[in-house]
Amino acid sequence: MQRAQHILESVFGYDAFRHSQADVIAALLDGGDVLTLMPTGGGKSLCYQIPALVRGGCGVVVSPLIALMQDQVDALRQLGIRAAYLNSTLDAATARSTEQALLAGELDMLYVAPERLLTDRMLDLLDRSTVSLFAIDEAHCVSQWGHDFRPEYQRLSVLHERFPTVPRIALTATADARTREEIIQQLQLQQAAVFVNSFDRPNIHYAISEGANPREQLWRFLEREHAEDAGIIYCLSRKKVEATAEWLTAKGRTALPYHAGLPADQRQAHQQRFLREEGVIVVATIAFGMGIDKPDVRFVAHLNLPKSIEAYYQETGRAGRDGQPANAWMAYGLQDIITLRQMVLGGEGAEQYKRIASNKLEAMLGLCELIACRRQALLAYFGETLDEPCGNCDNCRTPPQTWDGTETAQKALSCVYRSGQRFGVAYLVDVLLGKSDERIQRNGHDRISTFGIGEGLSGPEWRGVFRQLLAQGYLQTDLDGYGTLRLTEKCRPVLRGETTVQLRRQRKPEKVKKPRAAAAVDLDPLDRPLYEALRERRTALAQEQGVPPYVIFHDSTLREMAALRPQNLRELHTVSGVGEQKLERYGEIFLAVIQESNFAME
Ligand code: ADP
Ligand code: ZN
Repeated sequence: MQRAQHILESVFGYDAFRHSQADVIAALLDGGDVLTLMPTGGGKSLCYQIPALVRGGCGVVVSPLIALMQDQVDALRQLGIRAAYLNSTLDAATARSTEQALLAGELDMLYVAPERLLTDRMLDLLDRSTVSLFAIDEAHCVSQWGHDFRPEYQRLSVLHERFPTVPRIALTATADARTREEIIQQLQLQQAAVFVNSFDRPNIHYAISEGANPREQLWRFLEREHAEDAGIIYCLSRKKVEATAEWLTAKGRTALPYHAGLPADQRQAHQQRFLREEGVIVVATIAFGMGIDKPDVRFVAHLNLPKSIEAYYQETGRAGRDGQPANAWMAYGLQDIITLRQMVLGGEGAEQYKRIASNKLEAMLGLCELIACRRQALLAYFGETLDEPCGNCDNCRTPPQTWDGTETAQKALSCVYRSGQRFGVAYLVDVLLGKSDERIQRNGHDRISTFGIGEGLSGPEWRGVFRQLLAQGYLQTDLDGYGTLRLTEKCRPVLRGETTVQLRRQRKPEKVKKPRAAAAVDLDPLDRPLYEALRERRTALAQEQGVPPYVIFHDSTLREMAALRPQNLRELHTVSGVGEQKLERYGEIFLAVIQESNFAME
């Protein structure tokens, strides 16, 4: 373990292990197997990188994320670690020389796609090499029930059979107990030490807002908090992805679309720009993001409701992997609820599947309409308890106001009932407001008792009421595609006046306050120019080498440099994220930038 601590400091430039990193590493150094569950950004990679270096031989990392192997390898090479990868994107000559390097004991770390690893040729090669450990990354891919299922993963138990003495570590950020069990079964990890970390991401601020004009709200949010930051915006449909990216581009932001309908090379190019340039926004369907380990994604925004809390947590988890403040922001509306319920309950598929999907959607809606701390609810969903409200979500910072909406709900529900449960929200709101158009007259709904009884509220306010009644399960939509509303059983006591209905008041748009989550905010304004200069230097170096800027130094490292202004290599070495290799490669270059800024200040 002493060696491990030494490597942490000298190679990676960090002082202390986080979460259960130290325990995991100790278990692997003992020769045991490990399963570790850690949230995104928790620091999974060190768990296998350090023991691989301590044990000697080559650590073999199985990962489904072929497109990202190059970046992972680049990042390790920056640290002076001898890393390489083998997958279908390599030409034969490069693949062969990588294989030779493995046999010759010249590799510390090798990334392999699972289908490649399982070939006879590869297994044979490993037989003839010294393997320090096997790391099975994204281990939840063995699960048939998850959305990332990879059949090859189920065959990875062969590693255990063929290399019984080589320790294995399976890693995932998927929290639930069922997936955990499946990983253990499928990969034969019954003997493994299991480390489950808290899934809390304290640096992420959660905010969910409802109501009209989500685009405008998004724009205000971006202007206020992320005028220059990189982030991801999720939309449900390809069309909306395209439209949103165009709109943001027209507004002067660098925004790139990403969805399964784009040609593969364009998708790849957009992903590359996101990783390599600063301040790029990707607008994407859920097809984007798995394994993206860009540490400085400052915000994840949802312009539509995700289908489940799992999806929401996974997507928002891509923000702030570097531990710096980040935002998870979402706006959703009535139409989202209607569309998603239709997608989940309509369509093909087994009843059992629909029921599970429907429960997940209801849980997501519950989170949206929640009045209490969002983080407590999120963690509770994953079986964790947070004793106190977090203080870093919208509900904690600006507690929502509620009002007794019983009478209002009765009006809305009886309007649905009296018009025959055959209409959508727009029509019902018109009836409540007493708008006597031709269609309403033809249906005779200008003569029912609920006609015109809703004048106390505006149209948008009524829509908000219907949204909450839908979300709270008093109403359901027909699957006819028209958004027809019907009453549910839950309505009876309300209509009889036996229970009350609490509604939340629409939140006013948050006042412009000092941005808390933007990059470099905790920097003294005096240090800001130096920080920018350091970033520029980093970008230039990254471009020269064709690597993402963050593999040279993270923002947090540059920020610390700007604040501490180290004057020599020894001082620079104390900055978190500056290991020996990077000190040697870049130390003088960054010290020169600091020197220049000293002159400028005098
Ligand atoms: P994960 O794969 O779990 O999402 P990573 O392994 O990419 O997370 O680590 C997230 C970030 O945290 C990386 O930038 C990594 O360098 C950093 N990190 C990991 N462990 C430590 C540590 N002990 N101290 C400081 N930073 C760390
Ligand atoms: Zn909270």
